Amino acid sequence: MTNDVFFRSAEDVGPKTNQLEQIKELFQKISPVRQGDIVAVKIHPGEYGNTTYIRPVLVRTVVDLVRDAGGIPFVTDTTTLYKGMKLNAAELIWAAAMNGFTQASMNAPFIVADGLLGDDAVSVDIGGSVLKDITVASAIAKADSMVVLSHAKGHPGSGFGGAIKNLGMGCLDKEGKTRVHEVGRPTIDPEKCVACGDCIDICAWDALVLEDTYARVDHELCRGELACMASCPQEAIIAPDDVDVEMQKMLGEAALGPIKCLSGRIGYINWIYDLTPGCDCFNFSAPQFAENVGITASTDPVAIDAATVDLINGKMGHHGRSIIDVWGVDPIVHLRYAEQIGCGKMEYSLLK
Ligand code: SF4
Repeated sequence: MTNDVFFRSAEDVGPKTNQLEQIKELFQKISPVRQGDIVAVKIHPGEYGNTTYIRPVLVRTVVDLVRDAGGIPFVTDTTTLYKGMKLNAAELIWAAAMNGFTQASMNAPFIVADGLLGDDAVSVDIGGSVLKDITVASAIAKADSMVVLSHAKGHPGSGFGGAIKNLGMGCLDKEGKTRVHEVGRPTIDPEKCVACGDCIDICAWDALVLEDTYARVDHELCRGELACMASCPQEAIIAPDDVDVEMQKMLGEAALGPIKCLSGRIGYINWIYDLTPGCDCFNFSAPQFAENVGITASTDPVAIDAATVDLINGKMGHHGRSIIDVWGVDPIVHLRYAEQIGCGKMEYSLLK
């Protein structure tokens, strides 16, 4: 692993160089693939209704490069805690196909890494300051090497989502995701709640209970993923103080789990296009908050995210803004915790 971050700019895309050609160049610099490897290509295929997720043709390009390098690729993602179309493997494969991710489009099978119900995982000791161990989705943990292909974008909990988010959340099973999220268990203000019931069906864990005049959260059942907050017309659902900071600590440390499972044999590509405020779990795509930047690649997940955030801030700086302004959340917290636990380095060399 080096802290070199290779960059191809969106401004260079034209008749002589398209994004596929840029990925081919970048892949050669960061490929972890050895002859005969079973190779996970980790993506997020987008929630149904989202239209700005990474494109299948970009995934196909990486899959073909893995094959050319002698690997046996499979494309993968994990089930979610929220109630969308990714709650179990059957619906996730269906949602991925609806968004264009099929064996025909990608030249590789799509495998849900944490199994039918999201409980197929391997526990890994990581020895962090907030997480001593974490559960990594089985098909990822057992692969020989991995290419993590991330759509860079905003995120309400972590400010930014890139390679570390894809590792420290996207590579975990439901139990691992719960460990990262559970600091977010909310409360409901009974003075504001009007017992409308809008939040009840949103929760995949039946953690919201409607009493006569107000709703309450059953903290035994709640996983803390906070999808309920946006459903409340009264803004009665209240997240704990500093939830973004506390969740980011867990996220940064959890990223070490898949790195340990794969003995660090991972290459990272960040696709910095369609910079939406929300992540690809949202079932819609809001207008982008910054212009397209390009594509970065590295063998260091912290360095690639630090460089990606700096490149995005470079675009936003013309307007006197930075990525912190998108949600009021500074993503530096999860990158620092990822660095402290040994995922990589914040310092990087940007090579164009
Ligand atoms: S959506 Fe808000 S107002 Fe309605 S029951 Fe839930 S907490 Fe109460």
